[in-house]
Amino acid sequence: MRQNMEQLYSTMGISPEVKAFGDRILENLKERFDAIDEMAEYNQLKVIHAMQTCRVSAECFQTSSGYGYNDTGRDRLEDVYAAAFHAQAALVRPQIACGTHAIAVALAGNLRPGDELLSISGKPYDTLEEVIGIRPSVGSLAEYGVTYAQVDLLEDGSFDLEGIRRAVNPRTKMIEIQRSKGYQTRPTLSVAQIGEAIAYVKSINPAIICMVDNCYGEFVEATEPTDVGADLMAGSLIKNPGGGLAPIGGYIVGKKEYVDRAAYRLTTPGLGKEVGASLGVLQSFYQGFFLAPVVTAAALKGAVFAANVYEKLGFPVVPDGKESRHDIIQAVEFGTPEGVIAFCQGIQAAAPVDSYVTPEPWAMPGYDSDVIMAAGAFVQGSSIELSADGPIKPPYAVYFQGGLTWPHAKLGILMSLQKLYEKGIVILER
Ligand SMILES: *Cc1c(COP(=O)(O)O)cnc(C)c1O
Repeated sequence: MRQNMEQLYSTMGISPEVKAFGDRILENLKERFDAIDEMAEYNQLKVIHAMQTCRVSAECFQTSSGYGYNDTGRDRLEDVYAAAFHAQAALVRPQIACGTHAIAVALAGNLRPGDELLSISGKPYDTLEEVIGIRPSVGSLAEYGVTYAQVDLLEDGSFDLEGIRRAVNPRTKMIEIQRSKGYQTRPTLSVAQIGEAIAYVKSINPAIICMVDNCYGEFVEATEPTDVGADLMAGSLIKNPGGGLAPIGGYIVGKKEYVDRAAYRLTTPGLGKEVGASLGVLQSFYQGFFLAPVVTAAALKGAVFAANVYEKLGFPVVPDGKESRHDIIQAVEFGTPEGVIAFCQGIQAAAPVDSYVTPEPWAMPGYDSDVIMAAGAFVQGSSIELSADGPIKPPYAVYFQGGLTWPHAKLGILMSLQKLYEKGIVILER
């Protein structure tokens, strides 16, 4: 028997007040959503065009094992990434364990003892601190004699051009820009802003390699950092470009010389891109990349919806409900541990996998406070799937992202609101 939509939401645990509140918010988001759909359409065509140009065929999905010599599907996929991102070359491999690994390989492959790495977007993502050696760590770039310097973004989130000019010196071999805010409260950088900063760096010294940490940014805009002068960019396949299907992996795209150097680090000098078996994952990589523009759009709609729901209820949200988007992460400040916990429990309760478990805050290694995480994901730790986490410390913010489909993202946000409502943390008119 077909229930009406309200009944079905009610069966799922969403009360009529919560559903009605969400619907009122959505009435005002039509134009926003249309723009997101148009972006998805543009990026979908871009990906299909790349697949057609590279003559993707059914043979590309065949597997290889052992050394992986002559794995044409693997090589063709790298051509597709390069074509879609308008770059010379790409390295797209299941042997790249995560986003941190992709970035680390790009850095270590291109830096040599005595070189300096300069971050021009402030402190890099937490896990990169040990890669670089900002926090002393075994095997870091610092141990290999690569020094590090950093220029923070200005108060308003823009690049500090004057500071960059002062920081660049003859040893500056590479600059790094992190597009997404990650778990900071600064604004995410737009591709246009990144392009301006790269042009500025190149005007000081055109030989400096400009690398962008593109995690969470892919397909949010019509262009990518490689369209505006980035020599290298890297990211994770269990975020946007894997489209939810890739079970592992990372990518590096950019100038051939620099991608090759990264490959000599990922495998070995001499072997580079020639080895590395694809072990049966290629179809998921291709198909995930194909779906990625639409999946990213679903995640973006979820982020915009959440921003507007919680802004309306008086909570600080970053980005705010109206701002343009350059990544898929949404932060909501609840101001209390109870708010963070209720939100994450709602996201978990709406998941297709592990919906019956109740996440609780715990002392995770590497964090200086308890953290609560919600993720009922098909791929473990995948953050293109609907997921949230919140450190239990002021300002008691949750960071959430993903949703492979818009209806799921919507359900997750309504369920988070339901939990806050049931706990009396928010009040909704009936
Ligand atoms: C996720 C992320 C990383 C690291 O990726 P992992 O897959 O978690 O190793 C690096 N930088 C940014 C901005 C990220 O969002």
